[in-house]
Amino acid sequence: MAQMALSHMHVIVPSSNESHLGRSFLKINSVNFNERPCISLLSFDLKASKLCTRRQSVISMSVQQASKPKVTVSPLTLEDAKEPPLNTYKPKEPYTATIVSVERLVGPRAPGETCHIVIDHDGNVPYWEGQSYGVIPPGENPKKPGNPHNVRLYSIASTRYGDNFDGKTASFCVRRAVYYDPETGKEDPSKNGVCSNFLCDSKPGDKVKITGPSGKIMLLPEDNPNATHIMIATGTGVAPFRGYLRRMFMESVPTFKFGGLAWLFLGVANSDSLLYDDEFEKYLKDYPDNFRFDRALSREQKNKKGGKMYVQDKIEEYSDEIFKLLDGGAHIYFCGLKGMMPGIQDTLKRVAEERGESWDQKLSQLKKNKQWHVEVY
Ligand code: FAD
Repeated sequence: MAQMALSHMHVIVPSSNESHLGRSFLKINSVNFNERPCISLLSFDLKASKLCTRRQSVISMSVQQASKPKVTVSPLTLEDAKEPPLNTYKPKEPYTATIVSVERLVGPRAPGETCHIVIDHDGNVPYWEGQSYGVIPPGENPKKPGNPHNVRLYSIASTRYGDNFDGKTASFCVRRAVYYDPETGKEDPSKNGVCSNFLCDSKPGDKVKITGPSGKIMLLPEDNPNATHIMIATGTGVAPFRGYLRRMFMESVPTFKFGGLAWLFLGVANSDSLLYDDEFEKYLKDYPDNFRFDRALSREQKNKKGGKMYVQDKIEEYSDEIFKLLDGGAHIYFCGLKGMMPGIQDTLKRVAEERGESWDQKLSQLKKNKQWHVEVY
């Protein structure tokens, strides 16, 4: 069987009554390029509640070898502005964008659901990597009858060119907020999150009201193409970093050539909850000198004290290197749930004290030098 790195693959298989079998197709497991091409599909059998693989013959298949895609928008339009776009659309007059796709990102053993959502703004709401859009879900604000819902912010997970490289789309990484009654442990749909469920349930062609873009704190500093960027994410906090990494390693923009180090720490529950892992694996393979990636799987790995492995345990493991990089001017970014920060700050403080340094002084220096970037929610 031949093996090759692919960026896109279009496969046509004989039609089947897949949905009647109660199976949901998950991903292409492997492809055999022999004389009679066949494809192995990984799917989740809903009836048997288990994963299964199935071989399927192929009618036609076209593959595109992985390489840095050339962006299709003139870089002059999206690279030349000196300042990032800010609040082009405001809550009173939002832009109506269109859902392009909604894709479940996590495997069956992940607690909860996270989706990758691509929306089409037709080039009308440009943004820079690290910014967020606001979304106004349809319906009435229960606290202000007759008024729309409040805006919810979502970090943009694509580069300014979007996943289609044409400058017309933006992508979100959204975790569905589900409410479980603390006493019964049962889901109470009446208390589920409004906007995240609207986004994860939406279908291609649906309309979505967006505002923004907003935020400057997570913009990728582009003054030094050889800088070090240490990115610490929990769950959907990986969104802005996916955008950075695509800009650094996937796109080919003449005005942005990255020659520094990007180091991503991602904390999730288990291996089924990993987000964009294939993309990150590919960067590891293609750019081993420029990309490092450490995963903390709290429900699958143990830290050195035998407890659950969180991102701060990984930070501690590499603290010598991280402190040296920070002393050398590295940028450090944190994104994800608010609850991640106290544990991380405690670890950084302890490590600094063990090194005979004052964390408070170090932190204020990092902030003064604009090396410290935090966006938690
Ligand atoms: P809401 O309807 O606002 O409800 C909030 C929570 O309250 C939910 O967990 C819901 O289940 C619970 N709840 C509702 N009613 C009750 C009740 N009666 N009693 C108890 N609990 C109740 N999120 C992402 O997924 N991805 C991102 O990339 C992302 N980026 C962000 C960037 C920024 C800068 C900020 C500020 C936030 C970001 N968020 C992101 C969070 C996002 O904005 C929303 O807060 C999140 O999706 C929940 O919104 P919702 O409308 O689904 O939930």
